Amino acid sequence: MDENEDFSKLRPKTRAVRGGTRRTGFEETSEAMFLTSGFAYPSAESAERRFKNEEGGYVYSRFGNPTVEMFENRLALIEGAARCRATASGLAAVTAAMLALTRAGDHVVAARAMFGGCRYIIEELLPRFGVSCTLIDGRDLDAWAHAARPETKVFFLETPSNPTLELIDIAAVAAIARRAGARLVVDNVFATPILQAPLTLGADIVIYSATKHIDGQGRCLGGAILSNDIDWIEKTLWPLLRNTGPSLSPFNAWVLLKSLETLALRVETATAHAAHVASGLKAITGISRVIYPFADDFPQRELARRQMKAGGTLVTFEVAGGKDAAFRFANALKIIDISNNLGDAKSLITHPVTTTHQRLSPEARAELGITPGMLRLSVGLEDPEDLLDDLRRAAAKASRS
Ligand SMILES: *Cc1c(COP(=O)(O)O)cnc(C)c1O
Repeated sequence: MDENEDFSKLRPKTRAVRGGTRRTGFEETSEAMFLTSGFAYPSAESAERRFKNEEGGYVYSRFGNPTVEMFENRLALIEGAARCRATASGLAAVTAAMLALTRAGDHVVAARAMFGGCRYIIEELLPRFGVSCTLIDGRDLDAWAHAARPETKVFFLETPSNPTLELIDIAAVAAIARRAGARLVVDNVFATPILQAPLTLGADIVIYSATKHIDGQGRCLGGAILSNDIDWIEKTLWPLLRNTGPSLSPFNAWVLLKSLETLALRVETATAHAAHVASGLKAITGISRVIYPFADDFPQRELARRQMKAGGTLVTFEVAGGKDAAFRFANALKIIDISNNLGDAKSLITHPVTTTHQRLSPEARAELGITPGMLRLSVGLEDPEDLLDDLRRAAAKASRS
């Protein structure tokens, strides 16, 4: 904790590389990986004191681990949050945060354009424990106010959303949440901590799937929960994590910790590539629609520029001719892989209707604007001209049915 205070005086680039580091006596330059489940105590008295919380020091890796803590502290510094807790995956983070924020009788309002697993947690899991929910169009600010009830404890949203890249005005929803006495939780995966700072805009809790841009090289799962509410993190969330065990492996924490050093470089480069690919896609015959938050024709471009530093690494587009044409398009790609992951150095494409959003009914998909010809492209670090060549070739094949 004290370390956080020292590192917080550093400028952002330095924090990303140095923040949270704790060297051992060997003075290693690369942070150590403490691949251990437990810790030995110098004496039985010391073990007793650590269990009573009267003495610092590690006890068991479900409670805390030095490598995991380095990752948590570095991510907190990058986000500008007082505290971070890591989890085994993004969905473990969402589950833990929602369970820590609600109890039977409470109510949650959530923007319906959210990641499939988040929707399962809010729409199916929480109601089993007596927590009801109302799903709304998150772009409609009146809908948040109307859905709020005295027992509403949480507002949950994702912006930009998957896969249609719709935006929600975080500052405006945060103000409504405050008036309603609810906490605002933002799933900031698509924007990353580099392009959007929800806590600065008034959100109470930020959640990441570290599997995506934070790893950024498709190696491991991870998640994180961040907040400036130290009391909530330590007194409510922390006991839940410690006693339910969605802990991040020290090995994965080490991979993610090292990845934070290059997060900004990767996100900024992939974002520049995505903007280039988005404008190039518009000129390709057979592509009927291109969605990119910083594009001039993006309906919410004013909001995009207000709350994001840049448009992000994802581009969504529609292939004329529906599902068959979209499949021909994806199958014809030679560089871009068909994969539902995102935020990777490698460009990846997915067909939401048949993969990430196949669980939704056709009506629910229509409500979200997800069409059969839609493809979601996560732009990576390859040369964007090679990506555009690949996309042009695929479009030509897709139009020849
Ligand atoms: C991937 C993702 C998640 C879930 O994260 P996992 O690490 O896969 O569990 C949650 N929200 C969004 C927006 C995601 O893209």
